[in-house]
Amino acid sequence: MSAAAPSQGSNSAPARGSAAPKPEARGNHTSASATPLLDIARLNAGYGEMQVLRDINLEIRPAEIVAMVGGNGAGKTTLLRAISRLIPSRGDITFDGRPLPATADDVFAAGLVQVPEGRQLFDRMSVEENLRMGAYRRRDGSAIAGDLEHMYAIFPRLADRRRQLAGSMSGGEQQMCAMARALMAKPRLMMVDEMSLGLAPVIVDLLLDTMTRIRAEGVTVLLVEQDVHAALSVADRGYVLETGEIVGKGTARELEADPEVQRAYLGEL
Ligand code: ATP
Repeated sequence: MSAAAPSQGSNSAPARGSAAPKPEARGNHTSASATPLLDIARLNAGYGEMQVLRDINLEIRPAEIVAMVGGNGAGKTTLLRAISRLIPSRGDITFDGRPLPATADDVFAAGLVQVPEGRQLFDRMSVEENLRMGAYRRRDGSAIAGDLEHMYAIFPRLADRRRQLAGSMSGGEQQMCAMARALMAKPRLMMVDEMSLGLAPVIVDLLLDTMTRIRAEGVTVLLVEQDVHAALSVADRGYVLETGEIVGKGTARELEADPEVQRAYLGEL
């Protein structure tokens, strides 16, 4: 990762809907020909007897931002848990051309890292201690100090608060800390669950802009969101999940223009 100058450290990002940058301006791109980094086929998962996910097929190519959108209880978090091997599942998952490891620890070590819903920070630890926890599996200890500084360049607000207890920060700052902690693991694929939940639009915009920077540095992103407008504004492609099944997919622009998506999620028809 390079230590580029910070660019999103203030509250100056425009509010969504009015002066927000056009979706294209966030750098959406597709790489249709690339071999998938994550390839999921016929995934079924649930809790005990209760099946939640049915025959999920999904692929994410290197350096894509892919949105998984859907309403309350659609199964989005369950999908992330299944990919992270936190719950049992049936089906085939390939990561970087190999079968995905069977345990959560090995999945993490392979470079597939989740930013969980609700952040789940170590509240009574400082920001910097949280970030160091993200790097606990790394063997390149000498590179960690430089990567910490890089996180503070990406998230300048965290630099100001590096000694502050994570639990005492605002929701937006905690989300930044959770994302930075995940990035400290040097993930190939970062899966972010409900990043926007409870945050002001100006903060969501700032985080979405950060997402495009993270992708530009080579990290592939799966963004799981109830805020469909936010997710599609930054994604290259997306999938729509309803009651455990994929009911739509396409480029972000195709989904935004889809009357069903507009009716169900964008409040436009
Ligand atoms: P939300 O954003 O509201 O969390 P979601 O799309 O992430 O929605 P999930 O959390 O994956 O949805 O939930 C899908 C279904 O699985 C729901 O019916 C939910 O009640 C159920 N569920 C989720 N977690 C558990 C659990 N630990 N045990 C049993 N059922 C669960």
